Amino acid sequence: GKKVLIVYAHQEPKSFNGSLLKIAVEELTKQGCSVTVSDLYAMQFEPRATRNDIVGRLHNSEAFNYGVETWEAYKRGGLSRDVVEEQKKVQEADLLIFQFPLFWFNMPAILKGWMDRVLVQGFAYDLSKAYDGGLLQGKLSLFSFTTGGSQEMYSKGSISGDIRYVLWPMQHGIMHFCGVKVLEPHICYAPENVSEEKRKEMLTAWTQRLKTLWKEEPIDCSPEWYFK
Ligand code: FAD
Ligand code: ZN
Repeated sequence: GKKVLIVYAHQEPKSFNGSLLKIAVEELTKQGCSVTVSDLYAMQFEPRATRNDIVGRLHNSEAFNYGVETWEAYKRGGLSRDVVEEQKKVQEADLLIFQFPLFWFNMPAILKGWMDRVLVQGFAYDLSKAYDGGLLQGKLSLFSFTTGGSQEMYSKGSISGDIRYVLWPMQHGIMHFCGVKVLEPHICYAPENVSEEKRKEMLTAWTQRLKTLWKEEPIDCSPEWYFK
């Protein structure tokens, strides 16, 4: 069976995001996948990139440089335990699913902090080992998120612009940079503002998509996909 890591960022299990998470765990488990969930709020995951992430002596204690220090610490096995645990989960996964509500055209800070702290140099990418050469090659990713705004607002020429614009930093800037292939995003628009019936439909659509997920081809993650 395939290994899936779901990194989940919602405070409330009864939320729409909570329901999407539950569906993914159930459906993928049913398929024989082994599913791991990082429930970031429940874990009280530390989102701040600080010197606490380095155990022991700093490489340069005169002037702190987070990128350099975490890179050096990774090489000597000196990253903090919570970061190492997440890196192990990433290392083992065939597919990374990120499940979250859109916050300010972006992911919630706790999830951004997960990206900042877990995907360190030496582990996820390295000098000249980025994009197609990134160190997490062979893995897939999928951004599954909800919005407050409607699909109409997030279309090209509308007030919020094409939803793909917000996916550029997440899918291309982070996942593709680390060598991870990107599946089509899964977007549930405005679950708070639609009928109960529509909500049920959106949840069913997610179950249906997951049934054939492993047959999907990754997107062509190039600037054109986002901005053309
Ligand atoms: P919920 O409110 O939890 O769910 C919606 C409804 O679905 C609820 O009534 C819930 O009971 C119901 N529900 C849950 N499970 C089920 C089920 N199984 N069956 C049927 N119904 C169910 N939006 C944007 O578009 N752009 C932004 O930039 C943006 N920035 C934001 C910044 C902040 C700080 C915040 C707090 C919000 C922002 N939002 C933005 C809005 C945010 O994206 C939405 O509020 C969020 O995506 C809604 O998802 P939810 O899971 O929290 O919904
Ligand atoms: Zn890309």
